[in-house]
Amino acid sequence: MKNTIAADLEWSSLAQKALNGECLTVEEGLAVLNAHNDEILPLMQAAFNVRKHYYGKKVKLNMIINAKSGLCPEDCGYCSQSIVSTAPVQKYTLLDKDTLLAGAREAMARQAGTYCIVAAGKGPTEKELDQVVDAVREIRETMPLKICACLGILKDGQAERLSEAGVHRYNHNLNTSKANYPSITTTHTYDQRVETVEKVKSHGMSPCSGVIIGMGETNHEIVEMAYALRELDADSIPINFLNAIPGTPLEKSGRTSAMKALKVLALFRFICPSKEIRVAGGREVNLRTLQPLSLYAANSLFVGDYLTTAGQDISADHHIIEDLGFEIELNAL
Ligand code: SF4
Repeated sequence: MKNTIAADLEWSSLAQKALNGECLTVEEGLAVLNAHNDEILPLMQAAFNVRKHYYGKKVKLNMIINAKSGLCPEDCGYCSQSIVSTAPVQKYTLLDKDTLLAGAREAMARQAGTYCIVAAGKGPTEKELDQVVDAVREIRETMPLKICACLGILKDGQAERLSEAGVHRYNHNLNTSKANYPSITTTHTYDQRVETVEKVKSHGMSPCSGVIIGMGETNHEIVEMAYALRELDADSIPINFLNAIPGTPLEKSGRTSAMKALKVLALFRFICPSKEIRVAGGREVNLRTLQPLSLYAANSLFVGDYLTTAGQDISADHHIIEDLGFEIELNAL
């Protein structure tokens, strides 16, 4: 293990590199992931220096609504809504407009600046798209909320319609590395996911794309995932940590340690320095008591429940932000 002064210098030099617009080498990325746990504070301080440069102490909140649950023909190994999962999840078709609007009002009450409308499935039908577009138009006319849609792979013409309706951002995660992708999902490909993110960008929506850590990937692959998202120029990068759900193919995967999760967040801050890094699904069960430290690298959170698993009480998240001396950023994209 390096002595503390040497470690401080190393992590601060990576922060300076990131602020200079230079990309970390693979070796530097791996050094972050392999950092000794005793170095976590100087590492997070270095990540914080980058985060502070772009976002100060602001924390953006996002709220998800599971607009269509279960019934998915895809076989994503981490997902309780997939056709190969036996997890007891709710199954329903696309929620009606009143329910989607009620969710938007709840997002406002929680001080979330972005409302994420998420639907299970490979991609939306035209009828589903009509319903989403109708709800989005009304939300945009009546509430100061940003809308993010996550509806799967988009067919020609669908990205344009969402953009015209006022959807600011579209989420489509890369999830894992290209090499690891076939071991997670066989019903669609990594390249299809990249194509959808590119399609979203070409139609004026802000691209949101992230990862799920803890699905058998190597550290080298985590560094590759960060490079891939830097290359894709994703504006928002949700970093999920697998919450292994009984009944899913990945149910026996262990949790990511809290220390490892912090190192991953620092890595993404260094490699994608100016981007919204969101500590996302699974933070409660993987980061556990170290959740507050995550905000020294990340500048964004999901609040409330996830798609099929419970989040923590909104007051706990507000307390974390308050206790850190950070502040909620309203109406940021
Ligand atoms: S992640 Fe999406 S596409 Fe994959 S099984 Fe779950 S709902 Fe279907």
